[in-house]
Amino acid sequence: MKHNIIIIGGGPAGYTAAIYAQRAGLQPLLFEGMLPGGQLTTTTHIDNYPGFDGGIDANALMSAMRAQAENLGAELRNGSVQKIERDGKDFILTLDGGESLLTKTVVIATGASAKYLGLESEERYKGLGVSACATCDGFFYRNRTVAVVGGGDTACEEATYLASLCKKVYLIVRRDVLRASEAMQQRVMGTENIEILWNCNTKEVLGDEYGVTGVRLVRKSGEEFEVALDGFFLGIGHHPNSELFTNVAKVDDKGYIITENGSTRTSTPGVFAAGDVQDSIYRQAVTAAASGAKAAMDVKAYLDNVYEKL
Ligand code: NDP
Repeated sequence: MKHNIIIIGGGPAGYTAAIYAQRAGLQPLLFEGMLPGGQLTTTTHIDNYPGFDGGIDANALMSAMRAQAENLGAELRNGSVQKIERDGKDFILTLDGGESLLTKTVVIATGASAKYLGLESEERYKGLGVSACATCDGFFYRNRTVAVVGGGDTACEEATYLASLCKKVYLIVRRDVLRASEAMQQRVMGTENIEILWNCNTKEVLGDEYGVTGVRLVRKSGEEFEVALDGFFLGIGHHPNSELFTNVAKVDDKGYIITENGSTRTSTPGVFAAGDVQDSIYRQAVTAAASGAKAAMDVKAYLDNVYEKL
């Protein structure tokens, strides 16, 4: 069997692509990957997705998108695509279980993942006090002391969220300014139990057999010091999940898939990309959903106008 369109990724971009593709009569197949619902499932409440006057629980939003795609008749499957290979004008996709599928088009909507500092000590305590998701793991640090690394909106959001649960939150910032939006900066500055450690880099995460006990920091001046902690959170941005697909989709120097002229077309005809995997700037649920819609429309136009003539 040859599919018209296989969508890789179960976030706002993937589900919206499935909704639009199904409505266009393309009978899409979507692989939801390791984290159905995508990055939004690692947050709690979302206030800026339009259409919900009191905001909406992020998991409820993703469940509704998923259900909408399924109710319209799109086929959703667990699992990940490990490889895309060209086969003439078609593509062979290999799944994590080894199964192969043939398709006329592919939409890559694999999103982005949290970045880590790359320290050996950080790796050692992952899941033992080191986390990149405050809303997933913050609960474990009620009335404790934690640190968040980063100075952008993610770090500031994580710090203010953790400050509502924890006794004390240190924000470890490598420069003497925050990159976060003005509103977010004001929130951080106005939160009593957040202390910003300016001009500091993390040298080592400290711990024992039970997990994180602190962190060793180094100031720009070269001075080193330790801070006692129960938890260590990363908020230093994300990297696009494009590694497996660079043979069919050219990426920029940061790994984001390059799309053509505001469309979702990649460097290979028949391969499209939507959502955070191709967006280094906006990275919002609503912009990801919108690019999923564009991808399905681009696929439809490609199948109608290009594919048959190849
Ligand atoms: P950003 O790239 O904006 O910020 C990353 C932060 O981490 C910067 O302060 C950066 O420092 C710091 N950093 C990066 N690498 C290291 C390192 N190795 N060691 C120490 N610090 C490091 O990423 P975000 O995830 O914060 O935001 C991404 C986008 O998503 C932005 O457009 C943001 O506005 C948006 N966003 C919006 C939210 C909202 O509106 N509610 C919530 C979260 C994100 P430096 O500044 O020195 O480079």
